[in-house]
Amino acid sequence: SLTLGIVGLPNVGKSTMFNALTRNDVLAANYPFATIEPNVGVVPLRDPRLDRLAEMFSSEKVVPATVSFVDIAGIVAGASEGAGLGNKFLANIREADAICQVVRVFSDDDVVHVDGRVDPAADIETIATELVLADLQTIEKALPRLEKEARVKKETKAVVDEIQHAQGVLNEGRTLFQAGLDSPRLRELNLLTVKPFLYVFNADEPVLTDDARRKELAELVAPAEAVFLDAKVEAELLELDAESAQELLESIGQPEPGLDALARAGFRTLGLQTYLTAGPKESRAWTIRRGATAPEAAGVIHTDFQKGFIKAEVVSYDDLVEAGSMAAARSAGKVRMEGKDYVMVDGDVVEFRFNV
Ligand code: GDP
Repeated sequence: SLTLGIVGLPNVGKSTMFNALTRNDVLAANYPFATIEPNVGVVPLRDPRLDRLAEMFSSEKVVPATVSFVDIAGIVAGASEGAGLGNKFLANIREADAICQVVRVFSDDDVVHVDGRVDPAADIETIATELVLADLQTIEKALPRLEKEARVKKETKAVVDEIQHAQGVLNEGRTLFQAGLDSPRLRELNLLTVKPFLYVFNADEPVLTDDARRKELAELVAPAEAVFLDAKVEAELLELDAESAQELLESIGQPEPGLDALARAGFRTLGLQTYLTAGPKESRAWTIRRGATAPEAAGVIHTDFQKGFIKAEVVSYDDLVEAGSMAAARSAGKVRMEGKDYVMVDGDVVEFRFNV
């Protein structure tokens, strides 16, 4: 499955947040046989629609989709210079599908900041610079061979142009993601900064409740998404019963746990969406990439469903809830038969028909 790699300077709250991410009862209940690596945090994507479906279908259980975060230890300024830890760090990021940087915004005189002050913009730049430098090295290594090839092979000229354009962007200190550059060719080179970025601002109450400040920080990282949470509070929430948890959230002006917002943002950043199935056994959200077709969606349940795909019976969640039951939705003409070219829409409730 796709993963987000968690990075950040020392002492910004990565471990605190990661520990909160990995302590999840919902998952233990629903995925008892999953082997989860110690450096991977699997977070449920909370979806109130599933509870509503479970009610309607008297489902025995609810199985949410999940998002995986990998803890990538040890970013240090100078990683791109390639000393031991730095190399390992970059190799780990290469394996992730998106980059999730935790940025410290909380102030706490007891927690030392590596650069002596809390400065989110500078922290973001420090990490971006290491990744940009690593990409520049990758390009400098690849270009001479490609330029040579371009002299005899016309098609390679376009590749060289594209890579040189990317090099120009990186030389300005920008990531390829910021510049909106992405292509199979750039991906082939295994560049780091084409990966989508997501930023988690680890903040305390004064910042969490300051809309103007939040907006300013969000603009700093656009087009990447920004999530605001208090990592320490997130860890505490897991120890509390529902009512106390709610009170604690209200005391810091938050409508929901930050981890829920993080799961949603992570999911979007990875380019994923869900569709839903419902029945007496379970109501469940399945993960597909945005733009997946009906047979691809069926393949997520079982490869045989994809191979033997005939059609999908689809009703949108809203139509289903409005009708009140599958039978009522059917007689209202809200249940559609979709073929193999159908592109799935978020919130589709689906039953597949297939040959075995
Ligand atoms: P890491 O080095 O990025 O993994 O940072 P840690 O998670 O180890 O956190 C470093 C220190 O900051 C620890 O003492 C944490 O308890 C503290 N810390 C983490 N998050 C917060 C926060 O949101 N607020 C405050 N006040 N302290 C935090």
